[in-house]
Amino acid sequence: MQGTLTRENVFEVHLLKREEWLHLARKLDWEYSYVREDEVFPKIISGTPWLPHSDWQDWEEAFKTSYREYVENQHDKDMAVYAVRDAVGRLEDIQKLNTPWINGLKIHAAALPLAEFTGVVGNLRGARFGRDSAWRTMAVFGALDEFRHTQIPLLLLHELVRWDAQFDWTHKFYHTNNWFAIAARHFFDELTLGQNAIEFHIATNFILETAFTNLQFVGLASLAHEAGDHLFEKMVTSIQTDEARHAQIGHPVLAEVMKHDAEHAQYLVDKWFWRNWHIFSILTGVTMDYFTAPDQRPTSFKEFMEEWIVDQYLRTLDEFGLKKPWYWDLFLDELEIYHHMIYASAYTYRATLWFNFVMPSPTDRQWLRRKYPKYWDDMDAIWERVSDQWRAAGPGPNSEMSVHGQAMPTFCDLCQLPLSAGTPRNNTANTLAFEDRNYIFCSEPCRWIFMKEPERYASHKDLVKRVLTGEAPASLPDLLTAYFRLTPETWGKDVCGGKYDWLSKARSHGH
Ligand code: MN
Ligand code: MN
Repeated sequence: MQGTLTRENVFEVHLLKREEWLHLARKLDWEYSYVREDEVFPKIISGTPWLPHSDWQDWEEAFKTSYREYVENQHDKDMAVYAVRDAVGRLEDIQKLNTPWINGLKIHAAALPLAEFTGVVGNLRGARFGRDSAWRTMAVFGALDEFRHTQIPLLLLHELVRWDAQFDWTHKFYHTNNWFAIAARHFFDELTLGQNAIEFHIATNFILETAFTNLQFVGLASLAHEAGDHLFEKMVTSIQTDEARHAQIGHPVLAEVMKHDAEHAQYLVDKWFWRNWHIFSILTGVTMDYFTAPDQRPTSFKEFMEEWIVDQYLRTLDEFGLKKPWYWDLFLDELEIYHHMIYASAYTYRATLWFNFVMPSPTDRQWLRRKYPKYWDDMDAIWERVSDQWRAAGPGPNSEMSVHGQAMPTFCDLCQLPLSAGTPRNNTANTLAFEDRNYIFCSEPCRWIFMKEPERYASHKDLVKRVLTGEAPASLPDLLTAYFRLTPETWGKDVCGGKYDWLSKARSHGH
């Protein structure tokens, strides 16, 4: 007898060693005899430029892993998340956090999990239609990762619904026609669900996960740490370890596209940087600068972007032989103000959202003025007006609707977000007559993207068009309840009901 087989020695005695088989398992492509290669990998779903496999065969990922190693690693990571949940993730731990931070948590609880799930679908497209077997294998792991990123936040954050009904939006958000859900779906449907393998991997891995991932996973994790939210911190850092691995798929894909069609590569990165920028400036920008207590903010959103995104992104573009996006100056200008405009506009229409809002106090506004000197005067005037409205209406839940927008705002026909680009003085909205319809865009880059692929975007109906065609109700209460699926209990309010100590004191501490 050769000795007893155990789980440990079966691999050593009877199977090849890792280094003997891994390269064989990674490269499992073969030549087709009864179909053409372009039938196995149709251009429409594999992506452009369409190249024969000989051009892709040297495709190589930097971090090579086997399925067995993958499962063992992921298991350990899950155990570590559960351990943190058991130690510091009880309801009473969450309840101790600052109220504004908890509302930032509600934004992420809603926006994150099912968006991660669309990442499963996008990766599975790469797992079938990616052009080299090593790429396809990595995309399988990517799909499993994204499934984990769906389940963990659903598990940890939806549970909070027993304490606060707004956390129901963890599951519900993408299943509603809430205006922000429409914008987020428009973004993720294009990024992941309806995308070919090449564009998916460049847009998701290279732009979202490499350029913008630091915002969510490094910046937000450090803020969560400062805010004392150790569960959220652990969750995002655990997710980040997966992202750092599967994001590598994008680099060799981009490098190959660059070799054959540099213009297309430039378009894809410029388009997706812009689209990601608008979504992330809301998710991260608002959470950093408004939902984190001033003494828990190590830097402003803009400083964080400058340190982690701006320099690094331009350096990476340069390494690939790509140019700085044509709209770079417009982007730098938006960095000064875009998320402030969005926040003020969302505050004004807070009943249309599923989380509560805080007014920036005079101390906050001094901090914001220091960090965003370029346009803060204009923004400050808006908060001064809101303060006056609260003073006139008096604090309390009955005044909420007196300090609230009534007219329907207009949305951009590309990013689907309210027209909030430019400054309060100088809105950059612009219109376009195309075929038999009129379109409006919040910014030049949004218009540019639309013009590049009008067949992709032209038929989408924004909220205003849905109201005009009778698809969505025109009255605000019906829109909120029947179409956005909010209730008086769950729709957004001022966290203090307008009752701020500083508000009752003398007017304007802003200057
Ligand atoms: Mn993910
Ligand atoms: Mn990912």
